[in-house]
Amino acid sequence: MPQNADLIKDHIPLFREPEYKEMFARKRECFENSHGEAKVAEVAEWTKSWDYREKNLAREALVINPNKACQPLGALFAAAGFDGTLGYVHGSQGCAAYFRSHLSRHFKEASSVVSDSMTEDAAVFGGLNNMVDGLANAYALYKPKMIAVCTSCMAEVIGDDISSFIGNAKTKESIPADFPVPFAHTPSFVGSHIVGYDNMMKGILTTFWDGKVRDAATDKINIIPGFDGYSVGNIRELKRILGMIGVEYTVLSDTSDVYDTPTDGEFRMYDGGTTQDDTIAALQAKATLSLSEYCTPATLKFIAETGQETAAFNYPMGVGATDDFLVKLVALTGKDIPEALTKERGRLVDALADSMTWLHGKKMAVYGDPDFTLSMVRFLLEMGVEPVHVLATNGTKKWEKQVKALLATSPFGKDAQVWQGKDLWHLRSLLATEPADFLIGNSYGKYLELDLGIPLIRLTFPIFDRHHHHRFPTMFYDGSLRVLTTILDKVFDTLDRESGENGISFDLTR
Ligand code: SF4
Repeated sequence: MPQNADLIKDHIPLFREPEYKEMFARKRECFENSHGEAKVAEVAEWTKSWDYREKNLAREALVINPNKACQPLGALFAAAGFDGTLGYVHGSQGCAAYFRSHLSRHFKEASSVVSDSMTEDAAVFGGLNNMVDGLANAYALYKPKMIAVCTSCMAEVIGDDISSFIGNAKTKESIPADFPVPFAHTPSFVGSHIVGYDNMMKGILTTFWDGKVRDAATDKINIIPGFDGYSVGNIRELKRILGMIGVEYTVLSDTSDVYDTPTDGEFRMYDGGTTQDDTIAALQAKATLSLSEYCTPATLKFIAETGQETAAFNYPMGVGATDDFLVKLVALTGKDIPEALTKERGRLVDALADSMTWLHGKKMAVYGDPDFTLSMVRFLLEMGVEPVHVLATNGTKKWEKQVKALLATSPFGKDAQVWQGKDLWHLRSLLATEPADFLIGNSYGKYLELDLGIPLIRLTFPIFDRHHHHRFPTMFYDGSLRVLTTILDKVFDTLDRESGENGISFDLTR
């Protein structure tokens, strides 16, 4: 036996033992009914050809590895940023397990979400009883200050009216009549996690603002971060900068603590987050700024209707995008940019100048959410990098136009192609036929890296296979410096590996 009680091997060396190799080969031969290795290799090669690319891009009825998640994931993420809030899925238990594990795998934190476990009978008769019992149990067991309800596909397909269900549950005294239960319909056969974020954010503000009058405008600024896998680092960085400038603010959905709880002997199901008092008071703010335009269209429209000024940004990363955000902040508040922040900007510009010879003309492909891709492309152009493919499965026609307009502002953008609504199997064809030097995206890109030999730089959600990235900022000047460093590290690692293998220019100093 390759292992026994005295010698427990990790699965990687274990599966390389002859016994396991033989077992896998036998399984393939006897049960998998597979084609021979030569045939598999031939087809795999063909799927990297222009012929296959054209067929792949013409594909309409099938999506393969879409780079997006479903609506409730975004809704639960938005809800988690409010103090003492328990996310609640009206629908299938399996969906809730997926959302919890997706968030936990990225943040390496427990992600507390309940479900009212609709099954076959609820699918036929409706999920009212599930809601009545589910709210009562969630309230009694987990003692939240607020329960935020979203829906999975099953509840949407049968048309459950969750507003009236919540009202019924209150009538039946599952929860107190004045207990806040914001809700969002989050059908996953349309939209993606960024739409779910928007729906839940609007649902929460509606719960606390409806029936109230905006009659005491203050100097405070509301900031909505949007769906961001780096929210822990980015929201802390945002607060640091706002503190430096002296801006009074409310972060609407502050997930920086709940996804980064300490290990000190106390389990925190809830930690930090925007309080209900602050959420109510946010109605009186001078303006609301969204850091992620595509995560907040319905929310900003709702807020604008209250009379507040609103503005949206696309994930302020890099010099120009951070400048834009700060210029707006200064215009709204009348504050000055402190010398210390000006210096941070100068250090970022200095770092870009220090490294530009290593990045100039490098070809990179980018995929991710609309706001991230817009911002990443803008920052790449500042670095002198040439984007090759820019892809967002959940990008809209408007996003496509924005990216093209951005690319047109720089000679480095002239050869880039923009792919709206395409998936990661499309991206494989694109990279196989028109390769990039590097690929920027999330952990799912590791299969493209393995398959095509294009080094992957992990810079957006989800990052399952590397740890702690989310604890460090990627936005604003200091965060951008970290992004720049991450990109450079991969460029230098790749250069060292290649020059070491070739025996040419394996230099100590770069
Ligand atoms: S797509 Fe629908 S069924 Fe699938 S996990 Fe999302 S909500 Fe559940």
